[in-house]
Amino acid sequence: MDYKSFLVKPGSKVKISDFDPDNIDGYSDRAAAKEKIRENEQKLSDLQYKLYSEGRQSLLIVLQAMDAGGKDGTIKHVLAAMNPQSCRVQSFKAPNPVEAAHDFLWRIHHNAPKKGEVVIFNRSHYEDVLVVRVHDLVPKEVWSQRYELINDFEKLLAANGTRIVKLFLNISKEEQLKRFLSRLGDRAKTWKISDGDYKERQYWDKYMAAFEDTLSKCSKEHAPWYVIPSNHKWFRDLLVSEILVKTMESMAMKLPQATVDLAVVKQLAEQELRKCSDKKLVAAELPKLLGEKPVKVPKAEKAPKKAAKDKKK
Ligand code: AMP
Ligand code: MG
Repeated sequence: MDYKSFLVKPGSKVKISDFDPDNIDGYSDRAAAKEKIRENEQKLSDLQYKLYSEGRQSLLIVLQAMDAGGKDGTIKHVLAAMNPQSCRVQSFKAPNPVEAAHDFLWRIHHNAPKKGEVVIFNRSHYEDVLVVRVHDLVPKEVWSQRYELINDFEKLLAANGTRIVKLFLNISKEEQLKRFLSRLGDRAKTWKISDGDYKERQYWDKYMAAFEDTLSKCSKEHAPWYVIPSNHKWFRDLLVSEILVKTMESMAMKLPQATVDLAVVKQLAEQELRKCSDKKLVAAELPKLLGEKPVKVPKAEKAPKKAAKDKKK
């Protein structure tokens, strides 16, 4: 799969209508993607282990989408492959009074990943050039300066060892309606329905224009935007897993060297093992320590089996 064909080339002018939300890139169906997704999940798990143990870099995944675009489902899939020990999801709602009293990046910077960590932003600083712009929550003079501020901010994170991957989950307006309707018919999902869902649909075109500017102005080498065709959830999961694997592979992480003198520790281990009463453990482990072939446990020590034979007679 050529995951780079979904990348917004830095400096290009984006038109959302050029991106087909139904695209499945030659795959036939969910079943065809299943094996590849599993393979990628295993790779992601290994890569995250390396990132964590290396402790020198971090990964920030930014998720943006229209309502019902699949942010929650994507997070569930990405996280399924990761160890919660060093992975975190950070959701951003409308700013609370303290957040609103600061600059728009204040709450974001505070939640950026630390070294060794993977952080997923469920919405992000991009809301400040999306919903804020669509609803005129601040004057144009204010939001229009934010693209540059965002680029500078992300440059700062990147310079500090944070790899940034930004994913726009692209669904069609019809698919959104379909998903809203399915929430109405699914008791497990009615809690997700919000008053604004249908009202917000009248601003669809304004949102698309805001996304077009965001993608055009803020896709950078060190912090690229990808447009993920997301009408088919399985394809979305496949592509996201592929992008994350390729991104993390390019981070050239290395497992750290041992911090102790392994020769000394081996001697200590040998001493302890020789004192150990579990003969099976000794027979299996001692040769490994000494760099020899394992010895077979002498027959005399397999006494319990004989007792079982006696019973049969
Ligand atoms: P949800 O993610 O569905 O729980 O909704 C969160 C809501 O918070 C969405 O309607 C966002 O548009 C809104 N939101 C997030 N960040 C901001 C922001 N900076 N300014 C205004 N609204 C925001
Ligand atoms: Mg919502």
